[in-house]
Amino acid sequence: MKRLDLPAYESAALYDSSVAGLADEALRAKFEENRPTVVEAFHLFDENSQTKTWCNLPRAAHGHPDAIVVGTLSKGELVALYDEGVVKSRGEPRRIYDQIKVSARDECPYCGGIGEMGEVGELGTADHFLPKAYFPTYSVMPVNLVPACQVCNKGMGASFPTDEHLQPLHPYLDEDHFFTTKWLFASVRPGDPLAVDYAANPPADWPEKDRLRVAAHFEACKLGSRYRSRVWSEISPLISQRRSSLSSLSPDQFREHLAVAANEPGLPINGWKRVLYSALVSSNWFCDEEFE
Ligand SMILES: [Zn+2]
Repeated sequence: MKRLDLPAYESAALYDSSVAGLADEALRAKFEENRPTVVEAFHLFDENSQTKTWCNLPRAAHGHPDAIVVGTLSKGELVALYDEGVVKSRGEPRRIYDQIKVSARDECPYCGGIGEMGEVGELGTADHFLPKAYFPTYSVMPVNLVPACQVCNKGMGASFPTDEHLQPLHPYLDEDHFFTTKWLFASVRPGDPLAVDYAANPPADWPEKDRLRVAAHFEACKLGSRYRSRVWSEISPLISQRRSSLSSLSPDQFREHLAVAANEPGLPINGWKRVLYSALVSSNWFCDEEFE
C-alpha cells in the first residue's frame, strides 16, 4: 500500500472541460444546466471523505443506463461524459487523466507495485475508487480516479461494499496511519524451498473499523497470494549472494545485512519487500542456514 498525493485538479473544473469537449450541443447544454446539482454531489463526496463513509453515498442500480441519477442526468450520460469527455478527449481532460495515471510512477498504490500497470505502450489503468457502475456521478472526479494495476483494478471490481468496515483503502484520502504504521507482516516457513506467508495484522489499539478495512483491502487485492508468489524474485538472488559474495559473513553479520533493507526508509513500511526483509531478520533459521 502506497500513499499518493491528492491530484491537484478541481472536480468542477474537470467536469466543465469534459462537458466543453462534447460534440453534441444539446447534451452539452444539459450538462451545463445540471452543473449546480452535480457540484453539490461532489461536495457530498468530499464530506464523506472526511468521515471515510463513501459507501453511504447515493448508489445507482446496476445496469439501467436510462435511470436518472443526478438532476436530470442519466447514468448512461454520466458514464459517456467520462468515456467521451475524458478518456477520448484530445485536450485538457485527457491530459489530466494521463497525469493521474502516471502519478503512481508505475507502482500501483493498492498493492504497492507488484502488478503490471498496463498493456505495452500504455500508461496503466485508472481505477474508479467508487465504481462508475454504481456511482456514475463521480466518474469524472479526479479524487475518484486512482492509478492501479490490472489485478487490483479487477480485484476491486465493479462493486463497492455497503458496509463501511469493508471499504478498501483510498491512496489519496485515507487516514495517515494506514501508510505510516506497520500492519503488514510476514513469516518465514523453513524448508527447501522455504515459504513466506503474509498477513494483515493492524495494531490492536486501532479503531475496529480501520482494522477491518485493512483486512478487507488485503483480501480484495489478494495480497497474500500475490506477495507470496513474488518473494522468489528477491530471495533467489539473495541466496545466491549468501553462497558467494556474502559467504564470509557470520549469521549475525548476515542478519545485519538483511536489517538494512528491512529498515530502508525509502521503501513503504507496508511494502512487500520491506516486510519480507523484516521477516528474514526475525528468522533464526534463515540467518543461520548455510544454503549449501
Ligand atoms: Zn495493484
